[in-house]
Amino acid sequence: MLDIKNLHAEVEGQPILNGVDLHIPTGEVHAIMGPNGSGKSTLANILAGRDDYEITAGSVDYDSQSLLDLDAEQRACEGVFLGFQYPVEIPGVSNLYLLRAAVNARRAYRGEDEIDAMDFMKQVQSTVGDVGMSMEMAKRGVNEGFSGGEKKRNEIFQMLMLEPKLSILDETDSGLDIDALKTVANGINQLRSPERSTILVTHYKRLLEHVIPDRIHVLAGGQVVRSGGPELADHLEAHGYAALETETASAAS
Ligand code: ADP
Ligand code: MG
Repeated sequence: MLDIKNLHAEVEGQPILNGVDLHIPTGEVHAIMGPNGSGKSTLANILAGRDDYEITAGSVDYDSQSLLDLDAEQRACEGVFLGFQYPVEIPGVSNLYLLRAAVNARRAYRGEDEIDAMDFMKQVQSTVGDVGMSMEMAKRGVNEGFSGGEKKRNEIFQMLMLEPKLSILDETDSGLDIDALKTVANGINQLRSPERSTILVTHYKRLLEHVIPDRIHVLAGGQVVRSGGPELADHLEAHGYAALETETASAAS
């Protein structure tokens, strides 16, 4: 599904990613953890096609095409979805209006007709229930006046409606109460299938107790410094990232 090789990227002349290698097979859920400022959001944003970054080396293959050659809209149409760490508010633009435009843009890209209004509303009604949102919230301006947790539920709502092939969720679990965390986890598990892959950027083991990842990678200093199975989260929770750096350094010497 996704093959990242030696990816280097800069922001305003400052190197942030320093040779990221990451392989995510189709059908798998991979978690990316790592200290603050290690480049996790940078990586997520670059994959989604945000253009504030300069790619200075490396390649990203997605579904056997070069992802970096596609613009953000094309990537979305090809099934890439980014759940933002900080979802933006777009007052005055209804959530449902935006979603329907997104669904139809993708259908147009595939040469399909626009979605039938009744079918769209049926899908909305069943999906809002899945994420614990009211119809009133679904119709409101995008994230307008939503609490932090409601914004994260809304990201999952959008993801479930768009059924992406590759979902990248940037700290969608941060700031959630236990019920919202379970809802978010259920949403992620609901999309889990042999045809789809998911990248979960997270700081906390608690999400990974509800969504058991196939692999966990630790990003530090703009590189993947450690990869392992789900048990790596326990190790990190017990010892922190600092211990990992010491281990890595002593292994190298
Ligand atoms: P993480 O998500 O792992 O906490 P980020 O990818 O958000 O880390 O940031 C990595 C580093 O890049 C940080 O030091 C951050 O300050 C810097 N950075 C990210 N975006 C910008 C930007 N637009 N301008 C300048 N520095 C940036
Ligand atoms: Mg981040």
